[in-house]
Amino acid sequence: MNRPVNFSAGPSVVPVEVLETLAAEMVNYQKTGLSLVELSHRGEIYGRVHLETIALIRELMGVPEDYSVLLLGGGATLQFSMLPMNLLPTGKSADYINSGAWARKAIDEAKKVGGVNVIYDGASEKYTNLPDPKSIKPSPNAAYLHITTNETIGGLQWKVFPEFRGVPMVADMSSDILSRPVDVGRFGLIYAGAQKNLGPAGVTIVIIQNELLSESPKNIGSYLNYSVHAKANSLYNTPPVFSIWAMKLVLENIKKCGGAAAVAKTNMLKAAKLYEAIDSSGGFYRCPVNKAFRSDMNVVWRLRNENLEAKFFESSAIAGLIGLKGHRSVGGCRASIYNSLKEEGVDRLIAFMAEFSAKKG
Ligand code: PMP
Repeated sequence: MNRPVNFSAGPSVVPVEVLETLAAEMVNYQKTGLSLVELSHRGEIYGRVHLETIALIRELMGVPEDYSVLLLGGGATLQFSMLPMNLLPTGKSADYINSGAWARKAIDEAKKVGGVNVIYDGASEKYTNLPDPKSIKPSPNAAYLHITTNETIGGLQWKVFPEFRGVPMVADMSSDILSRPVDVGRFGLIYAGAQKNLGPAGVTIVIIQNELLSESPKNIGSYLNYSVHAKANSLYNTPPVFSIWAMKLVLENIKKCGGAAAVAKTNMLKAAKLYEAIDSSGGFYRCPVNKAFRSDMNVVWRLRNENLEAKFFESSAIAGLIGLKGHRSVGGCRASIYNSLKEEGVDRLIAFMAEFSAKKG
């Protein structure tokens, strides 16, 4: 089957081998005669999938012993609220770095819960820049400091993380989790939805330092309480079993490819090629993001003549390249080139872009 190259931002490309395994095992899971999605989440068969998935996250991300890995529902969006509900007590405030559309959503939700300090605001530069990581210092009263490691809409990514002591750093890694090695020990909490680098939507990973679990207030809903999930090893209620199963297969795929470091090498290569194609187009294409912070996951660009963009999408779709439209809030073009998007896909895009500019330029 001739599948189009899928540059969608999320849900997004899943390795075809994973889709094939899911299809082959959907009706009869490992000769049990039943589908995994029909089996009790408290039973032995699903139980193994659950534990192996958590173990793979621990292994591939190098999660330290004193951290819990939670598998939750609600997307990263629920984490925008759940995080301050658990970790932002009355009398304290939380520091946020406003790096773009997703950071802003996190900020807006946190403000509903408690005090928020925006310690860097990229709005005046239209979110094309990030602060020098060395300049980041938490406020005296901060309960935590929040960053968005990759802005999916703006195409902006932290390459080096801020380093400070005394206040936990929290990261939304929704669109670059496991795309590169990360020192988890430098974060108090990491959260990420699965639907970009790790499989279908429906499951959200939360990695939390155990020390922080005691901070969760007792008077919030049980599902909203990190310590409830940690105590139950993410089986407090029915977990999204299908999404977790699919994520396990994607994680096995990452392991087979050599883990986060190997995947990062390919990701950087893919991104470098695509940025080079944009930068060397004589201005036909242009990327607005500061070179130091250009994302390896979501490459954004405009055409010099923005009126040609509709034609660009139409022709690229005919060429089998789909999902290249930028987010509706900003327009322009965006290629999401997550882990599972192969280098050949990027090569096809680059060839198409050259052909398009030659015809229209
Ligand atoms: N944060 C980032 C960086 C994202 O890219 C997204 C989704 N595109 C979200 C949060 C929201 O995630 P969800 O749709 O899983 O709630």
